[in-house]
Amino acid sequence: MKYVSTRGKAPELDFEDVMITGLARDGGLYVPKEWPFFSEEMISKMDGCSYEEIAFQVMRPFIGSTFTDLEFKEIIKKSYKDFSSFERCPVVKLKDNIFVLELYHGPTLAFKDVAMQLIGQMFELSLKRRNQKIVIVGATSGDTGSAAIEAFKGLDSVEVFIMYPDGAVSDVQRRQMTTATENNVNALAVDGNFDDCQARLKDMFNDFDFRDEINLASVNSINWARVMAQVVYYFTSAIAVGAPKKKVNFTVPTGNFGDIFAGYVAKKMGLPIEKLVIATNQNDILDRVVKSGVYKIERVKPSISPSMDIQVSSNFERALFDIFSQDSLRIRTLMDELRISEKFKLTSEEVEKLQAVFESGSSSEEETNDTISSIFEETGTLMCPHSATGTKVAKEKNDDGDVPMIVLATASPAKFPNAVKAASGISPKLPAHMSDLFDRGERVKMVPNDIKRIKEIIIESINS
Ligand SMILES: *Cc1c(COP(=O)(O)O)cnc(C)c1O
Repeated sequence: MKYVSTRGKAPELDFEDVMITGLARDGGLYVPKEWPFFSEEMISKMDGCSYEEIAFQVMRPFIGSTFTDLEFKEIIKKSYKDFSSFERCPVVKLKDNIFVLELYHGPTLAFKDVAMQLIGQMFELSLKRRNQKIVIVGATSGDTGSAAIEAFKGLDSVEVFIMYPDGAVSDVQRRQMTTATENNVNALAVDGNFDDCQARLKDMFNDFDFRDEINLASVNSINWARVMAQVVYYFTSAIAVGAPKKKVNFTVPTGNFGDIFAGYVAKKMGLPIEKLVIATNQNDILDRVVKSGVYKIERVKPSISPSMDIQVSSNFERALFDIFSQDSLRIRTLMDELRISEKFKLTSEEVEKLQAVFESGSSSEEETNDTISSIFEETGTLMCPHSATGTKVAKEKNDDGDVPMIVLATASPAKFPNAVKAASGISPKLPAHMSDLFDRGERVKMVPNDIKRIKEIIIESINS
């Protein structure tokens, strides 16, 4: 399998280089040149298989010859062995025709673990074999950072730096990043918001000297391997509710568009997905672009679902590239426009194409709170604010008779105890393995929103 950049000016790479590289050198994102396809019969045969078996089948076509079948099976097995649910990503019925896909049974209680645990295992094998050391720098709105630190801590071949917006992550999220004792992981609290963190990360990747000097790699959702790992649970959950005989709908709480793009990929691969619904919080740039064709950056409004407090949604570029028949010239034009004027406008024909694939909705702070409390009252289920955002939108879009609607529950309520308590009166408890989280010492560096300083801090730390 070969991978191409959405901006068409970077070399084609195979899976291993795409995984290690992260961002393409032309500023674009890598995507597979073509989509593998699974027939209805092939999908039917997955029914009854374990999460790990389906993961192997779904991801195998993407990895080419990077790992042997035996190696890849071992990687998958190790990645999910510590998940607290034996189904790994279980589907539970919420009410009526709405189901919840619980993606938070990994070590840091959010869906980011599903991909990050796999990436940790893949990186380790690949880097050992290449006898290579790399520096992973990540930008996080909270959950990617903790998942990356958990996946990479203690590994010899990687040094990890995670930039998060100071003061804008939950206490649990922050402590998951700052309490690791391993020296190869570093938390950086940036004086800025998530978009600033992500912009500084892109600055670093666009400085090729720096990039090559430290062997910079990224595990942000711009890394294709993460999207790939997330395709798997669309298959397992759809099969659990009756696919491929039945069609299914999905609603996905969305920030950087990685998770929902994985759903788009699953559909391209033959999974009978009817609706793919984008759910945003009050930072609703994606809802606006689907409805109006105008992608316009506004100021980030901090919300109770901080992992979705995003304006620049990186993976949206991948969706546009594919929906516009891999027209990299058009993508370059749009992204240049965005850089210069903080917005771009799609043609009416392009909007139609976008709307043929995605529906969208948003949830205000009040609506999210109401959803947490009403779902708790009606069903006894506690939801994190991100999952509640999805559930609010899913209810509105759930009008297809007997097509099941699956909402992605992206984090455990225990990761956002204050918001959940404020809405429901119940304070969810952390699981046993992190019950001492608030007693552990924190280790964090405060950094300005200044690329020069951030680079210096990283270099100093690597050399110390
Ligand atoms: C990251 C995250 C999201 C958004 O996912 P994207 O792939 O960025 O769209 C939603 N909910 C939670 C809890 C997250 O951690």
